[in-house]
Amino acid sequence: TLKSMFEQTVGKYANKEALVDTRLGTRWTYKQWDDEVNRTANALRASGVEKGDLVSTVLFNTAEFATTLFACTKIGAVFNPINFRLMAKELEFILKDADPKVVLFEKATASQVELVVNKLPDIEFWSIDEQDLTYALNYYDKVSGKGTTRPQCELDENDPYAIMYTSGTTGLPKGVIHSHRNMVDQALLMTACLHLSDKDRGLTVAPIFHCAELHCAFFPRVMTGASNIIMHHFDAPAVIETVKQEQITSFFAAPTMWNMMIQEEFSKEDFESLQRGLYGGAPMAPALTTRLHEVLGVQLIQAYGMTEMGPAITGLMEEEQISKAGSAGRPLLNHEVRVVQTNEHGPAEPEAICKPGELGEIIVRGPSMMLGYYNRPEATEEALYKGWYHSGDIGSYDEDGYLWVSDRVKDMIISGGENIYSREVEDVLFDHPGVLDAAVIGEPDEMWGERVVAFIVKKDTQLNEKVLDEFCTSGSRLARYKRPRRYEFVDELPRNASGKLQKFKLRERTKALSE
Ligand code: AMP
Ligand code: MG
Repeated sequence: TLKSMFEQTVGKYANKEALVDTRLGTRWTYKQWDDEVNRTANALRASGVEKGDLVSTVLFNTAEFATTLFACTKIGAVFNPINFRLMAKELEFILKDADPKVVLFEKATASQVELVVNKLPDIEFWSIDEQDLTYALNYYDKVSGKGTTRPQCELDENDPYAIMYTSGTTGLPKGVIHSHRNMVDQALLMTACLHLSDKDRGLTVAPIFHCAELHCAFFPRVMTGASNIIMHHFDAPAVIETVKQEQITSFFAAPTMWNMMIQEEFSKEDFESLQRGLYGGAPMAPALTTRLHEVLGVQLIQAYGMTEMGPAITGLMEEEQISKAGSAGRPLLNHEVRVVQTNEHGPAEPEAICKPGELGEIIVRGPSMMLGYYNRPEATEEALYKGWYHSGDIGSYDEDGYLWVSDRVKDMIISGGENIYSREVEDVLFDHPGVLDAAVIGEPDEMWGERVVAFIVKKDTQLNEKVLDEFCTSGSRLARYKRPRRYEFVDELPRNASGKLQKFKLRERTKALSE
């Protein structure tokens, strides 16, 4: 279980630096962190949290988040980390669905929490910041008097450890249930991929509530007794400074964060301590991968996956970054990843395997597959049809066994009967040096059904529609039917906290404009 994993690390590395929170200015050893975790576990119990009850957090990257998570494992409570960027309506939906006993929040998320408290009279709200609020208790008041003895609790490896709500860019958010076993397996896997040891110093800058950071980067480091530096949120110059100051050896960042970092003025020397960087959660354009290699010279690893799988299922390793730039790599140890023919009438058949080069739906099975969706038996049955998780992503294998992710099934554009995968168009646009960020969607077209529209964030102010259109069509970069018919230049693209494009927002925008 995650509990025994944590306690083993504490036993082996009691006096080693475990957790540094740059916001609080605290530096704890594993022994000190364990004391905090036990105090919090005892405080949760004193407030009536029992085995199987949920505890939610609406927190940025904070020591209190990490402490509460392990406190939950000690008493068998189910941890429910909620996206700190959600609006009140979404927050209310999740809290009603999850029905936790306690919710932790902070100053930065209070304005959203405030709008829902009245509707949730049975939940205790704990603030980790000093705030004068009538509806909330203070976390530190709750834990300060509590003892540091380890609470006793019988725990099975198949007991649920957490419920994480998926972004819900299509339909209502669903709570993904993961067991302790799922996460120990995922953490072991990533420990091997990242070559982690107790000598490592890791940095948390990507949102810790999301499994990409939490399960692929943070847990593996806790498991190996590495040191963890936590920054409240991502800020490119501050991250670069911290990597240098704290001698960071390893960290995860979403592609869009890496993109922001290389726009800053800095040298290879700033990242000298960094041994391995991890990216994933969204596609990275090959042009960006190449630029990162040139500017940073650091070793990068890509992970591809989804919350339901814990998340990582395939990886692109250091030495493959350039030769296979744009690919999601090969299945990770103990994972079976297939591309199968899509099925209009229901879930794709696991045996309808596509040939190399043929596009289909990506399905997967492996040891960190979710137990199911919380309160959603039908959605679970459909998603886990015949024991395979159906990802809703379209992709293909190449002849060398590398997976290429083309699009979400729901984002695919059909123009004049031809399928257009937005990733291909976006990667070409990204190749243009004047483009800082790019997204492509389909908009209704009377003649063709749909036509391609590109949203561009400029790096170079000279950039215009004509230049980009010439770029796309010249040198057979893109077939004519795939090229954008319209460009919109914007200051910023809508992305969620973990760096994924929110294409539904772009679609709403084009719809509003045409009405
Ligand atoms: P989530 O469950 O919120 O983490 O979202 C999972 C989705 O993010 C996947 O189904 C993919 O569409 C996308 N995704 C994650 N990692 C990658 C990656 N390395 N390359 C391309 N798309 C990715
Ligand atoms: Mg999903």
